Amino acid sequence: MAGKAGAAPQKVDLLLSGCDVVTIDDRNRVIRDGAVAIRGNRIVWIGKASAARRHVTAASTLDGAGQIAMPGLIDAHVHTAQTLLRGKLAEIGLRRPIKIPPWKNYYIPFEGMLTDEDVHLSGLLCYANMISVGTTCFAEAGGPHPDAMGRAAVEIGIRGFVALSTVDQGTNVPGSMIATTRQCHDRNVALVKRWKGASHGTDRVQAWLSLRQIMVCTPELIEGMAEAARALDVKIHTHLCEGVYEIDYALERFGKRPAEYLHGLGALDRHMHCAHSVLLSAEEMDLFVRHRPSACHCAFNNYHIGPHRLSEMWRRGIDIGLGTDGAASWGSLDIFQVAHATRIGQQAVMGTPIAYRNVMGSEEILKVATNGGARALGLENQIGSLEVGKKADILLVDRTQLDHMPLYDPYFVAANTVVGRDVRTVVIDGKVVMKDRELLTVDREEIDRRLAERLPKLMERFDAMTA
Ligand SMILES: [Zn+2]
Repeated sequence: MAGKAGAAPQKVDLLLSGCDVVTIDDRNRVIRDGAVAIRGNRIVWIGKASAARRHVTAASTLDGAGQIAMPGLIDAHVHTAQTLLRGKLAEIGLRRPIKIPPWKNYYIPFEGMLTDEDVHLSGLLCYANMISVGTTCFAEAGGPHPDAMGRAAVEIGIRGFVALSTVDQGTNVPGSMIATTRQCHDRNVALVKRWKGASHGTDRVQAWLSLRQIMVCTPELIEGMAEAARALDVKIHTHLCEGVYEIDYALERFGKRPAEYLHGLGALDRHMHCAHSVLLSAEEMDLFVRHRPSACHCAFNNYHIGPHRLSEMWRRGIDIGLGTDGAASWGSLDIFQVAHATRIGQQAVMGTPIAYRNVMGSEEILKVATNGGARALGLENQIGSLEVGKKADILLVDRTQLDHMPLYDPYFVAANTVVGRDVRTVVIDGKVVMKDRELLTVDREEIDRRLAERLPKLMERFDAMTA
């Protein structure tokens, strides 16, 4: 990890120095009073702060005293275009009963109303919010106007994959949210090609294919998309085993459970990213292990559906990360809080029924949120830990708050007591995007101005439509 003794110091662009470095690497190394050096968009040196001056000469240095340096968190399932619905269903619920299921009665109709500019605004708000709570990379589930999301992500400086909401069958789906099988296929492929490589001046933002979920996608579309994913070598973002209605649909129509159905179509491989994956049978879990689709646990919502077996999936080597499922469902985009909810959820469903006290510690769950998210997104060689050679997606987190005291082990603090608002400084792809809680890439007043102008009109229409 250190350079050769006696070698001339290497020139670096940025040095984070004096922080406790929680690497979350293979050995979970923690370096007290450490330093991380960055050149371009990569980490080039990690070690003790006292050794840094012998090994590197930095163009600029950030003082990390009183802070923990750790890898940025990854939100492996978010709905960018639902950000403006945060808290809205709760507010409607004060006036009249909420219609079930919400995704069909509220979320998709809302997405159908949005213009390109609305989604751009949602993206600015969503990604700025993510950075402010320590999320440096996201996977969009699939929404309207994905190019507008991509534009917002490029501007804000976050890393991520955008995707198009893809529906080619189903009743009560707004016209703007449904298309023919061919249109769905072609629009997805074109989106991925538009965002391939450094086509927008950076390779930080790319696009995936998407299938909203099996009930609203024909078998022909699923097969075609699986083929396209292999040809383009990208993932397909979908929702899987998220409700009993979905299991019934697959059993009634095809005599198979959802994951078995995808497998039968040749679509269950490492290109498929299956958010939720709560209601997996033992056979479906085996299919995941054998065929390597990735998954995402959304703790804020998954325990409403069933006893999610994250800890079993993780131990069996499935590539799984944590996700928020967007701001509309439960409000927060803070993956630290999702991780805390995950610990309690896993204990309740996997430990307590068999009097087993330590199903999954918080440190291991933070590993899921970083290493696991990177694996789920196919970026494990790029991000997810602080290691020489990896991309510089790094948080500096305040460890001096009373809620963190006393401090014996910085990894314990990062995993158990830190929440997103403790994050002070964020580096993504080597660039400082938030410094001492000031967002450097975002004009916050401009976002507020656009929200004040647009939200009342949007909500008036939404209220009328969903009454
Ligand atoms: Zn979702």
